[in-house]
Amino acid sequence: MDLLTFRFAPSPNGELHLGHAYSALLNQDMARANGGRLLLRIEDIDTLRCTPEFEAGICRDLEWLGLEWEKPVRRQSEHFDTYRAALDRLIAEELVYPAFMSRGEIRALIADGERRGRDWPRDPDGVPLYPAIDKNLSSEDRKRRIGEGAPFAWRLDMAAATARTRQELAWTEIIDAALSSSREIAARPQDWGDVIVARREIPTSYHLSVVLDDALQEVSHVVRGMDLFAATGVQRLLQDLLGLPQPRYFHHPLILGPDGRKLSKSFADTGLSALRAAGATPSDIRRMVGL
Ligand code: GLU
Repeated sequence: MDLLTFRFAPSPNGELHLGHAYSALLNQDMARANGGRLLLRIEDIDTLRCTPEFEAGICRDLEWLGLEWEKPVRRQSEHFDTYRAALDRLIAEELVYPAFMSRGEIRALIADGERRGRDWPRDPDGVPLYPAIDKNLSSEDRKRRIGEGAPFAWRLDMAAATARTRQELAWTEIIDAALSSSREIAARPQDWGDVIVARREIPTSYHLSVVLDDALQEVSHVVRGMDLFAATGVQRLLQDLLGLPQPRYFHHPLILGPDGRKLSKSFADTGLSALRAAGATPSDIRRMVGL
């Protein structure tokens, strides 16, 4: 079997908590058990919210935990050219369109529809789907608005994109950390509507950079939280459109807070640096996350 490659891919927009520790350690354990590689990828495309200080804190916490990863680390903010080239391809193939509506305009439109008793469709995370208005603009209107300097994001034309793929898309989901069994999951990218492929200020989005980097770094196994399970359908579609190889996936259960909800970066009492300051050891952390 080829060398297996795993990656842990945090965003430096806050501090790591127990959920990140579980994901990072599980990646390491799975890589070690299979004689594989472990990469660290810093997902810092959001240059406003991500900071070098958070990145340094993440590396400090991971080293303290005993994580060992290959160098150099891939930092997404250093690869905008790569993402831009893929975006240009999707633009040339007319699979994306400029979306001009601001968040406020979208909210107002949905509120108006709901006042008239119309339930607005939502994606699996509960976010309302993007209205079909900009997709139907004529090319003259688009050119005019861009010429006027109207800000816009690039959104995937989901109907065009799913029509382009030759087959029913699916991904391989591993069922146990020992990699002994897996099953095929039907991808449902259409549930997400016209997702953002590139933002207003940056030529990429989480989905676009993640599929490109997983391919460029030859990641064979994506091990990450269950919260990204459904979104894998969108990533599978982008892989197909861009001719990228597909890794296998293992979406692990989430570590929940005392209130039974997903941990967030603002949860001070489950932050790794706070736990360390309170005297916890790396083996305590392992025990706390059940590894
Ligand atoms: N950067 C993402 C996060 O911190 C993880 C992306 C992934 O593992 O695919 O939630």
